[in-house]
Amino acid sequence: MKIICVGRNYAAHAKELGNDIPAEPVVFMKPKSALLQSHTPFYYPEFTNELHYECELVLRISKNGKYIQERHAANYYNGITVGIDFTARDLQKELSEKGLPWEKAKAFDNSAAVGKFIDIVPGFNKKNINFTLYKNKELVQQGNSNQMTFNFENIISHVSSYFSLNIGDLIFTGTPAGVGECVVGDELEGFIENEMLLKMEVK
Ligand code: ZN
Repeated sequence: MKIICVGRNYAAHAKELGNDIPAEPVVFMKPKSALLQSHTPFYYPEFTNELHYECELVLRISKNGKYIQERHAANYYNGITVGIDFTARDLQKELSEKGLPWEKAKAFDNSAAVGKFIDIVPGFNKKNINFTLYKNKELVQQGNSNQMTFNFENIISHVSSYFSLNIGDLIFTGTPAGVGECVVGDELEGFIENEMLLKMEVK
C-alpha cells in the first residue's frame, strides 16, 4: 500500500504558511513504513526541533483503478477517518528553500497516524463533514470537507492519472488552518463530528 497526501487543500491553511492557493492538487507520498501501526508508540523524531501536527480527513481506497473519472470516483473509496500528517516543519522549510524534495520532513517512519475508519454508507454526506483535533483537551484544529479547494472526487481523479490506486491505499486530503507544534507528552485526539476516532501521545 501507499499513502498519498494532498497539500494546501484548504485556503486558510495555505495562507497561514504563506503559500498560494494551488491551481491543481499539490501531491506527495509517504511509504508504507510511514504508517503508525495501532498500539505502536509514536516517538518524537530526533532530526527535528519543530514537529507539527496536521489533522486531515483520510480516505480508504477500496477498488483498483487508473485514470478514474470524477463521476466514478465515489466508487473507489469506502471508508473515512481522521489522520495526522506529522511534519518536521523546520526541516521542510530548509529543504523547500533549497528546492529539494521534502520526503525527509514528511515521509519518515510513523509520520502518518490514522484513526479508526467509518464505513461510507449510502446517504453519508461527504460534502459536510466536520472534523476536529484536540491537543491536551484543547481544540487546535477544526475543518469541514466543504472548505476543501479540491473535493474527494477531484483528488481521486487527478491522482489516478499519475499513480494507479490500489485497494488499501490511503489518501490524506489536506489540513485546515491551525497547524502547530507538538512536544513530548502531548496527547492528540481526532474527531469526526462527535466521534473520537484517533487518540495518541507523543513520547
Ligand atoms: Zn498535510
